Amino acid sequence: MDKKSLAFWQDKAATLSIEGRAFIDGEYRDAEGGRTFDCLSPIDGKLLAKVADSGAADVDAAVSAARRAFDSGVWSGLNPRQRKAILLRWAASIREHMDELALLETLDAGKPIADTTSVDVPGAAYCVEWFAEAIDKVGGEVAPADHHLVGLVTREPIGVVAAVVPWNFPILMASWKFGPALAAGNSVVLKPSEKSPLTAIRLAQLALDAGIPAGVFNVVPGAGEPGKLLALHQDVDCLAFTGSTNVGKLIMQYAGQSNLKRVWLELGGKSPNIVMPDCPDMDRAANAAAGAIFYNMGEMCTAGSRLLVHRDIKDVFLDKLIAAARSYTPGNPLDPNTSMGAIVDKVQLERVLGYIEAGRAEAKLLLGGARVKEETGGFYIEPTIFEIPASGAKVAREEIFGPVLSVITFDTVEEAIRIANDSEYGLAAAVWTSNLTIAHEVSRKLRAGTVWVNCYDEGGDMNFPFGGYKQSGNGRDKSLHALEKYTELKSTLVRLR
Ligand code: NAD
Repeated sequence: MDKKSLAFWQDKAATLSIEGRAFIDGEYRDAEGGRTFDCLSPIDGKLLAKVADSGAADVDAAVSAARRAFDSGVWSGLNPRQRKAILLRWAASIREHMDELALLETLDAGKPIADTTSVDVPGAAYCVEWFAEAIDKVGGEVAPADHHLVGLVTREPIGVVAAVVPWNFPILMASWKFGPALAAGNSVVLKPSEKSPLTAIRLAQLALDAGIPAGVFNVVPGAGEPGKLLALHQDVDCLAFTGSTNVGKLIMQYAGQSNLKRVWLELGGKSPNIVMPDCPDMDRAANAAAGAIFYNMGEMCTAGSRLLVHRDIKDVFLDKLIAAARSYTPGNPLDPNTSMGAIVDKVQLERVLGYIEAGRAEAKLLLGGARVKEETGGFYIEPTIFEIPASGAKVAREEIFGPVLSVITFDTVEEAIRIANDSEYGLAAAVWTSNLTIAHEVSRKLRAGTVWVNCYDEGGDMNFPFGGYKQSGNGRDKSLHALEKYTELKSTLVRLR
């Protein structure tokens, strides 16, 4: 396929028409009172659109529309085969609108266009396809019971599902929620992040055009307030959240204060990437370690932000790592050759720079550490690497959500496991070794939802459940297990005589 040029994307951006209104009951609407917020591009700090700032009336309208649609059976009552056909049409339409959606995502979140066209938008289409394809193949059980009974165990859609999502993979994280939720027959109210609402808003029209009935898929943009209103709402049956651990804790409280809606949380991480002295391929490991933290500007929940290296190989490994890190030079996200884009906004930029300052005081700076390309008006930070002293450092403990890597040295396998698990998080982890026994033993002992052996961030297939141990959350996105979150389990016992 031809690689489109920077000029192509700049021309397209100049003529792009951007929708900023909420989508409720099958139509775009202004927020009540015409309230809006400014949606700025992190590429140059300029205004992209005025976006609806949804409040209580808008959230209520969206939840009511979702409830009406659910109760009417217009979606929930379809044969799964029919839902599948409509979802596949929607996925095809997402692929047809690839350029437009990828451009919106790049302008809104600062992600390189090379990534939004190859990962984010195709990944969202694939997610919708995968759950569409699955939904007419999963059934219930006929369970063992007394001879005079027939006992059925079935799964039913839960009702109105709210999805509150973050800004680092806006369309992809949203699809991991609405894909399985819609396939299972629920109605959805999606609350995108205020930092990246544009693809969610656009997707809603494509959903309607593909045949998803009015009220089944609604989008209420805004900051924390509509998310909180959804979490407190008495008529929302389930809230699926991806975001920070702090807000995840609030969401659980809101559910407890309201109707005990089911709450599923995908939260933060501080993932360890352990390189043993018998690492089978140091060049591959160094490239993967750089990608694990510098891909997507480090704005990844699974970022391999703690690199644990055995003392015997530390010096040689760090040389390779630093060489690999230099290939992530911040550049214009619209340039197809750019591998590192802009930090999502000024708030996040300052947060990351604050951590870098703290790192300078406590650890040894090995690479980067500065804001760059300030003349563009955008928000760019160099790949940054710190070597952490034995006494530890804040940058090695807290989730930064930016391109900042902490390198920690260890001497024994036991010490590596102890350091790796010494975190409130448990989202992902990796270990590099040629020894099969060490690979399995370490994998077992790592308290994390995903463990990679001799790789990092592999497995883009939908087949693998994704989620965390400890304060990285509960529940799992992706895979058939994700359907369980959006269904209630019912036992039906029929007495024959
Ligand atoms: P965030 O918690 O600030 O916001 C997430 C969403 O919650 C946004 O839509 C936001 O508007 C909304 N929100 C904010 N305050 C709220 C409140 N009081 N009530 C309800 N909703 C509220 O997180 P973020 O900065 O958007 O995203 C970064 C975080 O997301 C990181 O911690 C990252 O690790 C995590 N993340 C986790 C996964 C995962 O699958 N585990 C994936 C991506 C991101």
